[in-house]
Amino acid sequence: MKSSDLFARAKTLMPGGVSSPVRAIKPFPFYVERAAGSHLTTVDGDDLIDCCLGYGPLILGHANPHIREAIERQLEGGWLYGTPSPLELDLAGIIIGDHPGIGMVRFVSSGSEATMAAIRLARGYTGKQDIIKVEGGFHGAHDAVLVKAGSGATTLGVPDSAGVVADLVAHTRQVPYNDAEALETLLSENDDIAAFILEPIMGNIGPVLPGDDYLADVREITAAYDVLLILDEVITGYRIGIGGAEVLYGVKPDIATFGKIIGGGLPIGAFGGRRDIMELVAPAGPVYQAGTFSGNPASLAAGVATLRYLHDHPEIYRRLDDATRTIEEVAVDARRGSFVRMGSIFKHFFRSTSPRNYREVKECDTEAFSRFWKAMLDLGIFLPPSQFETNFLSAAHSDQDIDEIAEAYGSCLFA
Ligand SMILES: *Cc1c(COP(=O)(O)O)cnc(C)c1O
Repeated sequence: MKSSDLFARAKTLMPGGVSSPVRAIKPFPFYVERAAGSHLTTVDGDDLIDCCLGYGPLILGHANPHIREAIERQLEGGWLYGTPSPLELDLAGIIIGDHPGIGMVRFVSSGSEATMAAIRLARGYTGKQDIIKVEGGFHGAHDAVLVKAGSGATTLGVPDSAGVVADLVAHTRQVPYNDAEALETLLSENDDIAAFILEPIMGNIGPVLPGDDYLADVREITAAYDVLLILDEVITGYRIGIGGAEVLYGVKPDIATFGKIIGGGLPIGAFGGRRDIMELVAPAGPVYQAGTFSGNPASLAAGVATLRYLHDHPEIYRRLDDATRTIEEVAVDARRGSFVRMGSIFKHFFRSTSPRNYREVKECDTEAFSRFWKAMLDLGIFLPPSQFETNFLSAAHSDQDIDEIAEAYGSCLFA
């Protein structure tokens, strides 16, 4: 069956025809038959270079043989125990070893679950009720973070989804990204703030990069007001280097959240942090958190294999940084919009200068983006289908892939 036929049927079986909203590409999404390395093969027989990579987890590309072997070995030994397995110690040990700010971790099954638990933990630790997030920051699909962007810093949060209790998101305040002063003002006026949660690099409207001192200022201000700093490293963890934003920018969180790459492409999430904070998590402490699939052996096996591979091949990060620079050189020549990159994440914004926050991202010409996106797809390059989603590269992208992507950028941006 062709993608159009599959989608017509899918719409009768699942809301919007998809399992997650961003996949509902118009007029219909392509269906994938198989994926290997940097390429996707669709049921329609198209071969595409993938710059979406499952929205970030696949830093080693699709069906990487090392990861596959680790998963297969685990499958032979079973894939769900309901009791601890030694793999948990391996993955916890690697993550803790790579992040000086993290003394303990708890595994969960998704990034959303990790941020939900991290926020509960911050409230349990501080005894305070409100949280602050960044406008346009994404932390998954649970109630406390589904707050409409644009509600001012001093006003109460307003739900960004039907079905979210207004009283609950009233406890979620928002500040613009790259504005340490707004954060300080809000903290000086409110003494019931448990935590500030942010993506160190905004990945779900961007990449939008932190200004020179922003993260250091955020660390200093939150500490001064006894507010916990939650770094959401679900995208940045192992993506911008080993140690993520914590190491790259030298900013120690009180709590950090992980997902995506640490599961090597299988479902996973984790939250970790200072030991005195983490010891409040059940059963060690009174903050409840639990999950049937938490510490799933197949995900752990894929995650351990991925992180070990990255440790053994640190040159991957430099090569990917060179690759996005190659694409940037072409994009910048086009003198149309602005190109932003950080290691293997990149994006072309249809806006004259690089955006610094959500309000500026919103000024992008989304119609120009849509035309560009479609033109890229016609040349065989799959980018995430939104101006507001980051593009990714993987270690599986060959020099030829990179050249093809750069050339396509050239012809589609100059068009
Ligand atoms: C993807 C993402 C999440 C949510 O992770 P899921 O595994 O999709 O639940 C949370 N925070 C950030 C920064 C993300 O990019």
